[in-house]
Amino acid sequence: MQDWEREIDDLIEIELKPSGITDDAVLAAMRRVKRHKFIPETLRDRAYGNYPLPIGESQTISQPYIVGLMTQALEIRKTDRVLEIGTGSGYQAAILAELSEIVYSIERLDTLSSRARTNLYSQGYDNIYLIVGDGTLGLPEYAPFDKIIVTAASPKATDILLSQLKQGGKMVVPVGNRSIQDLKLIEKALNGRIYRKSLGGCRFVPLIGKEGWRD
Ligand code: SAM
Repeated sequence: MQDWEREIDDLIEIELKPSGITDDAVLAAMRRVKRHKFIPETLRDRAYGNYPLPIGESQTISQPYIVGLMTQALEIRKTDRVLEIGTGSGYQAAILAELSEIVYSIERLDTLSSRARTNLYSQGYDNIYLIVGDGTLGLPEYAPFDKIIVTAASPKATDILLSQLKQGGKMVVPVGNRSIQDLKLIEKALNGRIYRKSLGGCRFVPLIGKEGWRD
């Protein structure tokens, strides 16, 4: 029988905190949301390693450090409405849901979205709204959002998503080519001005869609 609590503690103390993931609320959410529940059974003994893992359909659950970094950069508040592009396993959506009011998460692959739906609802999450579609177009009918997180590699930070971000809002998005990207934090000030900052290099699977890459 694996000691999940000890493995999560080790991940947090040995990997995340020394790498700068120190926000108590983010770490508490990463403690509550059990990563082993979001990956295939056969990989569960590696659930708390600090690396991405395959989740089927040639997609991955992100590295815990990157999940922590993106979540921390967004500075999520309990009243926030958050848009995620790339539901994947649903792990990141669950962490966002622990910290915010409501999460809208778009996934282009129906199989992954359905699996995430069954999993998240069986764990009791009732503030996550899952949508199947092309996330590069955002979700205009529910915009604007306080925070936007793109969890796939984008060729650019699109104006479409930026236009769906509230003034005073923040967005994180990996921007680059299909194999390597720079993680960008984009802030829309209250006067509408846009500020960009780099959070470092990263590697995501490609964002496929109208404003992303071709399949
Ligand atoms: N956030 C996920 C998690 O916690 O497991 C990991 C996301 S995985 C790195 C990237 C996901 O983005 C994949 O599931 C992929 O199918 C999805 N994706 C790619 N292009 C997309 C698009 N245009 N709209 C929505 N989802 C997309």
